Amino acid sequence: MVKLNQGITFKEQNLFREKRQLLVKSLRNKGITDEELLAVMEELPRELFVDPPFINRAYDDTALPIKCMQTISQPYTVAYMTELLCVKPSHKVLEIGTGSGYQAAILYLLGAKVYTIERIPELLNNAKDIFEQMGFKINCFLGDGSIGLSKFAPFDSIIVTAAAPSIPNRLIEQLKIGGRLVIPIGSKSYQTMNLIIKHTDNNYQLIEKDTFKFVPLIGDNGWNAEN
Ligand code: SAM
Repeated sequence: MVKLNQGITFKEQNLFREKRQLLVKSLRNKGITDEELLAVMEELPRELFVDPPFINRAYDDTALPIKCMQTISQPYTVAYMTELLCVKPSHKVLEIGTGSGYQAAILYLLGAKVYTIERIPELLNNAKDIFEQMGFKINCFLGDGSIGLSKFAPFDSIIVTAAAPSIPNRLIEQLKIGGRLVIPIGSKSYQTMNLIIKHTDNNYQLIEKDTFKFVPLIGDNGWNAEN
């Protein structure tokens, strides 16, 4: 059972719980079918991960601004990407782009061993504080995730929660055989969600899914920070 933050009143907790149930119902209507994932999304308080001015919009199915001009992804996008990962308990999962920490927390509650990497210190520190407050054991790293986290590879799956211009080979290299990479690829304006399944060291399958809009992945295998 997830512990609730002390700053939120009992009445607010009940209201948020009702809103969470409605959100999960809407995710089901939009085609999300993984019951374990839906149960976790019904349990995890998203209000803890959004910025205080947006707390009343925590259960709108929309991305919201967080600090440093970044975003907490839309709940539907989180559910969509997580479903593509096919996470099983004890899977080793790398998330690139910690942001608010919400996606990493979902992966953790699904039973994964989570490694998450963020390039902006303030965001990583905020997320770490939330994980600590909730008792979540999530491995947090500061740095350029576009090159992966080779020290801890191979991973059962890798999820990139920022828009990349092309598929970074270094991320495929860091997958186990049978592993999955979920990554939005495209321009800075919009991207296609790509699912890559690594069949052998030299052979992988690429499946293009729906269109989304993410903030850019900045780094060696991403976009340049200046433009
Ligand atoms: N997963 C996040 C959540 O649950 O709130 C949302 C992530 S936000 C859409 C994208 C994040 O990717 C931003 O926090 C951004 O700073 C981060 N980012 C961009 N390029 C990165 C890189 N090369 N390495 C690590 N993080 C990066």
